[in-house]
Amino acid sequence: MIIVEVLYKLQTESGCSMTHKEKAEQLLHQQYHCSQALFGSFADDFGLDLKTAFKISTCFGGGMRQGGVCGCITASMLVLGMAIGFYDAQDREHEIYGNKKTDEFIKRFTEQMGGVTECRDILGKDISNPQDMAVIRKEGLILQKCPKALSVSIEILEDMLADHLKYVSERNIDLADIPKEDEMQVLVEKMSRLRHFRRNVNQLLFTSSKDIGFIQFDIRKFKIINDSYGEKFGDEILDFIKGQLKQACDGKRYFINLRSDVFMVVAEYEKEDELVSFINDLDVRINNFKNVNLHMSYGIYMVEDKKMELRQMEDRAAMARKAAKKNVLTNIIFYNEQFKESLYNRKFIEENMQAAITKKQFMMYLQPKYSIAKNEIIGAEALVRWRHPERGMIFPNDFIPIIEENGFIRKVDYYIWEEACCFIKKCQEEGFEPCPVSVNVSRVHLRDNECIQVLSDLIKEKGIPKELLELEITESADDQQISLKAFQLKEEGFTLLMDDFGSGYSSLNILLETPFDVIKLDKKFIENMIVSNKGRLILEQVVAMAEKLRLGLLAEGVETKEQVELLQKIGCDQVQGYYYAKPMPEDEFFSLLKGQQRKAIQR
Ligand code: C2E
Ligand code: CA
Ligand code: CA
Repeated sequence: MIIVEVLYKLQTESGCSMTHKEKAEQLLHQQYHCSQALFGSFADDFGLDLKTAFKISTCFGGGMRQGGVCGCITASMLVLGMAIGFYDAQDREHEIYGNKKTDEFIKRFTEQMGGVTECRDILGKDISNPQDMAVIRKEGLILQKCPKALSVSIEILEDMLADHLKYVSERNIDLADIPKEDEMQVLVEKMSRLRHFRRNVNQLLFTSSKDIGFIQFDIRKFKIINDSYGEKFGDEILDFIKGQLKQACDGKRYFINLRSDVFMVVAEYEKEDELVSFINDLDVRINNFKNVNLHMSYGIYMVEDKKMELRQMEDRAAMARKAAKKNVLTNIIFYNEQFKESLYNRKFIEENMQAAITKKQFMMYLQPKYSIAKNEIIGAEALVRWRHPERGMIFPNDFIPIIEENGFIRKVDYYIWEEACCFIKKCQEEGFEPCPVSVNVSRVHLRDNECIQVLSDLIKEKGIPKELLELEITESADDQQISLKAFQLKEEGFTLLMDDFGSGYSSLNILLETPFDVIKLDKKFIENMIVSNKGRLILEQVVAMAEKLRLGLLAEGVETKEQVELLQKIGCDQVQGYYYAKPMPEDEFFSLLKGQQRKAIQR
């Protein structure tokens, strides 16, 4: 029963242009295991998405978990297996070749690592031993010791894969002859096609005197087509597109089917219009298929510097395609510098987040919550700020979506939760009236049990009453797991606030299934509701509903006197917003609170 569907946030998609080594190191910094970091850095080569690569490589961490063989070795075996492993039990020649390659890897790895191949020897500690593990975490040994094993492995792998490609081309193995049903082999085929494509493109870049454009495109809502007409029909469409591309790409134009419905064309051009008319012609051709109306999204990157890394050019076309997908007005988008900025931003955050924790650059700001009737502070919300020495203040909306994707939000939230508890304790010690502080609990925490433990430990350690630390959870489409976790938190005695009510999928079912104590009405919701009579009526009903359900109600983002008056009129007393106060450093809030306490005593 959805009552409001106003807006829901689009997740940012990222493109990355990194070498295997850079990618692997980045993943290691994001706290993936070395086997995941290594295999993850090759995911692209196998046409795998990162999640799948992580899942596959997780099971290769077994030896490592016992403190035994280094995860880089097992994951490298996986890379080699995917790239050159044998698939036909009768093919002895291939089997021997594959075995030789794996032996060669281990020999070279052992030599370059000075004979050390076991996880416990590389780290100097045994990860299967909890005490050792605590030291590994505390001293950050993984980030100190593992990069070498990762980098050695990747160097050897890249070298061996290049050799393998030479071997394949010398033996004139026609990749098209390989049976389709063999999945591994399909992956190998894909990888080799990609290398082949990149070689051609590189040659074009070096030899052509004209400008070069990268066009990446895909089919909008391809998944829905697949689901409604069946995968076979989906495959027919893809084959049809490949056929059309074969006709359209001759001599100086190259194309590749990167994965599923994503294609890329690289072409020479003299004027920008040529690329657009190429796309328009292609679009007409593609739309000839069985009267199905296919909507495509095209991204174009026009190469400015031919010496730039090829992957970077591909990524820029990918970014433009993703932007085209979100654009309702046009389906062709040119890459522009703004995209680059957002990519740099992501890189910056990923590279600096760890240091930001250790250097205490994250800070807790507090925004007061007021009672309209009493004109008094009744609590506060803790909001994170990142004060970077060069970049200045970075606001949560610019980094939280990224650190939620890579899981780093856990660390940031734990830090803010602790700061909030310390603040509550400080108020208690000063003898203030109790002032509850709410903290944001990212959805990432609600996937496992760690947060319950962390929160309970914090409460115990600081010796503060549980009811003073309130938890804000963003409402979301019905998610059983989140509901379950909320129940557990509730059982533990925490107060739960439903954040951003009315901003996305506000379903009454969520209220039914999740034991919230307070509803926080989203800023947009208030704005939308206040502008019309109908909206006001809905708002009144929500207030009445909260009352009947004995739920607390607080309006967020209150900016004007009119809003305050209206909210008061319909019976919503608790508010938070710039009209009263902006989020502020904790000592400022402390002084504000102190002033209020003094006034109360005088009265
Ligand atoms: P939120 O939880 O909905 O927090 C309210 C946001 O609205 C805050 O932005 C606050 O500064 C802003 N705000 C408050 N009153 C007004 C107003 O009257 N007008 C306008 N225009 N804005 C107002 P902020 O601090 O930038 O945080 C943005 C979002 O980032 C938060 O939305 C929350 O989802 C997330 N966030 C912030 N801190 C944390 C944190 O420590 N952990 C987690 N997991 N998320 C956080
Ligand atoms: Ca919040
Ligand atoms: Ca909110």
